[in-house]
Amino acid sequence: MKTALVTGAARGIGLATTKQFLQKGWHVVMIDRDEEALTSEAAQLDQVTPVLCDVSQIKQVNDVAQRIERVDALINNAGVADFGPIEDTDLSRWRAVMDTNLDGVFLVTQAFVSALAAAKGAIVNIASISGLRASTLRVAYGTSKAGVMALTQQQAVELGEKGIRANCVCPGPVRTKLAMAVHTQDIIDAYHDAIPLNRYGSEDEIANVITFLCSPEASFVTGQIISVDGGFEATGIGLP
Ligand code: NAD
Repeated sequence: MKTALVTGAARGIGLATTKQFLQKGWHVVMIDRDEEALTSEAAQLDQVTPVLCDVSQIKQVNDVAQRIERVDALINNAGVADFGPIEDTDLSRWRAVMDTNLDGVFLVTQAFVSALAAAKGAIVNIASISGLRASTLRVAYGTSKAGVMALTQQQAVELGEKGIRANCVCPGPVRTKLAMAVHTQDIIDAYHDAIPLNRYGSEDEIANVITFLCSPEASFVTGQIISVDGGFEATGIGLP
């Protein structure tokens, strides 16, 4: 049975991705640092292995890698948002974003390169339209997500000879806990106006593309940065 390892799997886009892999007959290793959410969601699913792990902690990540033998797809999805001006973003706030959004992707990938090579597997990293377009108040978040895109291309170029593909998905706005903690009504209205499809995306619309990138149909797709954003990126408009 094929195995996907999904980080940030306890809710939002990661949980939707987990469920889509299960529907396709895969086993899923669900990684999250939120024990309560992870335990309660995993209890409702068959063919999952829930693993409590903070992806920014190298020891925890390497301990997981010791326990998991097979990985056909790695979805680096765990992320945190931050919304604030440069002058208020002190180093601890900056580091908290980088630790999860960028270091986490690096550490988990490094820990599972051997397993992915054995399976000729696929990596999908989740960035954001905030990494494609500079904007106010997203200095840490946007910079971390631009780093995720660069890291994806490094992975694709370096790991291609091992048979590993690596791609990056940049979601537009989705009504998850992460987004709704920072999206005011003004931001929501502005996104509706700016996005050609005039709406937010759903978790499943992002998961559809993630699971496609791990499928045999995507066997010649690697090193790509793919926006799943209702056409927002094509408008050239700044982020609300
Ligand atoms: P969410 O908050 O609903 O889910 C994120 C999950 O990641 C949570 O279960 C959380 O506990 C987990 N997590 C956070 N830090 C972790 C860590 N260090 N170790 C392990 N688990 C950790 O958020 P979401 O909206 O589903 O976000 C998923 C990804 O999509 C993130 O990388 C986010 O930046 C990206 N994204 C989201 C949106 C959006 O509008 N929702 C837009 C663009 C990109």
